[in-house]
Amino acid sequence: MTLKCAVSLVCAAVTWACSSASAYAMSEDARIAKAVQAIDPQVRAWRHDFHQHPELSNREVRTSKKVAEVLQGLGLEVRTGIAKHGVVALLRAGKPGPTIAYRADMDATIGPELNDLPFRSTSTDSYLGQQISVSHLCGHDAHTAMLLGIATVLTGMRDRLPGNVMFIFQPAEEAHVNPGEPFGAREMLKENVFELFGKEYAPAAIFGLHVLPREAGTITFRAKTLLGSSENVLVKLTPAQAAVRGHDLTHEAAPADPVIAMAKMALALEDLPKLEQESFAPPPHIRIGDIKTAFDFRTGGMTLDMNIDIAVFDKNVEQKVHDWVTGTVQSIATQSGVAANIRSEQYAPVLYNDPDLVKQLRPAVVRAIGEKNIVEQYYFFPAADDVALFQSRIPGIFMFLGVNKPGLKTGETASNHTPKFFVNEDTFQAGMRAMTTVGLDYLNLHSKAAKTE
Ligand SMILES: [Zn+2]
Ligand SMILES: [Zn+2]
Repeated sequence: MTLKCAVSLVCAAVTWACSSASAYAMSEDARIAKAVQAIDPQVRAWRHDFHQHPELSNREVRTSKKVAEVLQGLGLEVRTGIAKHGVVALLRAGKPGPTIAYRADMDATIGPELNDLPFRSTSTDSYLGQQISVSHLCGHDAHTAMLLGIATVLTGMRDRLPGNVMFIFQPAEEAHVNPGEPFGAREMLKENVFELFGKEYAPAAIFGLHVLPREAGTITFRAKTLLGSSENVLVKLTPAQAAVRGHDLTHEAAPADPVIAMAKMALALEDLPKLEQESFAPPPHIRIGDIKTAFDFRTGGMTLDMNIDIAVFDKNVEQKVHDWVTGTVQSIATQSGVAANIRSEQYAPVLYNDPDLVKQLRPAVVRAIGEKNIVEQYYFFPAADDVALFQSRIPGIFMFLGVNKPGLKTGETASNHTPKFFVNEDTFQAGMRAMTTVGLDYLNLHSKAAKTE
């Protein structure tokens, strides 16, 4: 567009093309804004309903039923029961073009809500044998409601959409904090989520949004790393050699001590070798926790279990850090005469926003919410989101929508996963406009018509 308009200084025909294209874009933006405004009361009502009926990871029965009903009501093709309670819908476009996907997560969190809201959650459930409170303390109720709103808006434009739209309502994003639960994005990928409607409708790009306690109506829209990875390395240490039964304390055949080996490992893991990282990325976090020892009847010595949490902020060093951690544990175990059983479980890789997409689609966000509401700089905090798995398969952009009360800045309100986490619904229109405009711009830029121009 910029290039064409530069040429238009000397070419009247192209000038006309440029101005008519931008007039079209403006009117389409205005139409989106109007449609978003019209659906906003319904989106709030959906959110109140989800908020009042929160469901834990892998138990999103009521939520997914409601989501499927709304999508079917729009006339979309809907698949249910994906990764237990996931719902995926396809909007087939009126004009040929690529397919894009949007993702929203649906599950709630363990913990009570202390906000004084008429639709406050008072739900309880049983988890690992305990009665617990369940609430939407991460805002997934808002994500689900907004994506239903976006589906409504895009369905209203289906005749002039230059490509198809897949809506992915994902279960079990919070599963990593609940031991033993399958992870939603990973399970959906195992079920081939992107090809549910056939290879020809596999999405070429994916977009998602998360609410955060930041200035109201702002959108964090940046290239490269948005959140760190999350990997859990489970280590079991056992004495390599059985103890000599009945040995006295001076006897040299006492089994090697996994606790001493663990202490050496903890010190060694402090010493991460220098990594060549992107300049923005903080050093990886490597943290040992959940240490448990037990007497082992087989060897007559102690066994030790521990978890090593790894968070990395540059995808280029993700594998290196994993190899270094497991290699360090293995070699210290060998030197210390203990056997190490190492099992690694990755919840999410680095959440990476495709730089080319960010560059292409930034103008869409500017038109949707205004330049001053875009946040580019970012501080990292120890959190991960399994949308990163989707974005590791196809290019995508994940954004943060600031949902503070007006006038409150980042750091001045309760964060996600705390009892007073609050979502300002007056920000929903900004979130829906940004997501819709980004998706529509992608389709316009990548449709066959655009490619053959
Ligand atoms: Zn969360
Ligand atoms: Zn979340």
